[in-house]
Amino acid sequence: MLDKQHEVWYQARQQEPARQVRILLFDQAIQLYDALDESFIGAFAVGSIRLLEVNAGEALLQLLPDGYERLTVSVNHLLWPELNQKLTNIRKFSSKAKKHWKWPVLLLIIAAGLIGIYFLLISMITGIGLQLVSTEKERELGEMIYASMAEGLKIDTAATEKLTRFAAELNLSDQYKLEFTVADEKEINAFAIPGGHIVVYKGILDEMDEPEELVALLSHEASHVNERHSLRSILRQLSGSVLLSMVFGDLGSIGRAVVGQADQLRSLSYSRSLEEKADASAMELMRNNKVDPRGMIGLMDRLKKAESGTALPGFLSTHPLTKDRKSTAEKYILKFPQTFETPEPIETSWKQLKSSLEDSVQNEW
Ligand SMILES: [Zn+2]
Repeated sequence: MLDKQHEVWYQARQQEPARQVRILLFDQAIQLYDALDESFIGAFAVGSIRLLEVNAGEALLQLLPDGYERLTVSVNHLLWPELNQKLTNIRKFSSKAKKHWKWPVLLLIIAAGLIGIYFLLISMITGIGLQLVSTEKERELGEMIYASMAEGLKIDTAATEKLTRFAAELNLSDQYKLEFTVADEKEINAFAIPGGHIVVYKGILDEMDEPEELVALLSHEASHVNERHSLRSILRQLSGSVLLSMVFGDLGSIGRAVVGQADQLRSLSYSRSLEEKADASAMELMRNNKVDPRGMIGLMDRLKKAESGTALPGFLSTHPLTKDRKSTAEKYILKFPQTFETPEPIETSWKQLKSSLEDSVQNEW
């Protein structure tokens, strides 16, 4: 009979009786042999062995993480100190590894929370700002922005006058007095300034063939003014930089870079939703002015054509994908299929604007 101190018992399944085995210990594994007939039972990686308990001088081990297979080793067994040492090393290693991956995750959660708070504060400040700024103050702010911009802007005075006449045939705003300017630039671009200035680049006017396309463009920019989208973007940018300098001072270049990048992503999707809103309001305005909202689809086609060209125009870089906007416009038209005959004065002022643009092209030659 074997000495009790040398006993090792192996149990393959819970309902099976345990049998006595011999154990061979290797660097990374153990091998088990039947104590009676010396037949090979199996090899088990030390890394997957778990010490379940030590009770009454016997250690109970689970040999595989997913299986039942148990091994009972007397703590007085010659090999137990060495096996126990190996199991302890593995436990230390894995708990160390756990600690290592815990920290980055914790930091990520904190960072996500801070970014969330940052955006929440910005929307709160922006919201409060929108309430506080009166239409009058907005107008003053817009004048200041326009004045500083106009210095670097080449203005086509003749075309500006014709565009102003064209727009006078439309009712695009109840709250704001809109002012139109034609910039003498080949870029396909247009933008709205808080309070009512709308700047249209010659490049986009040259692309257009029908007056309805221009009505679509002006209605879109007027909607940005009416719904205070331009004011909102400026307030957002301002509150963002004020908040960041409050939080980080001059030390937080890293934090600033991280949050700045996040802000860019956010403002992209933000303006995307505002663009879609402006498109919808624009088609509403077009119908109110008895101009066919299909002009919006014509405008999108012009933009798409320009998009496939080599130079990527600024108008497009800040606007959502023209394809998406076009399909949204098509859905709107399915909902309101009524067609309109564009009023005669709009047609007339359109022709005058177009011929003014052609004249200035001829003058360049
Ligand atoms: Zn827009």
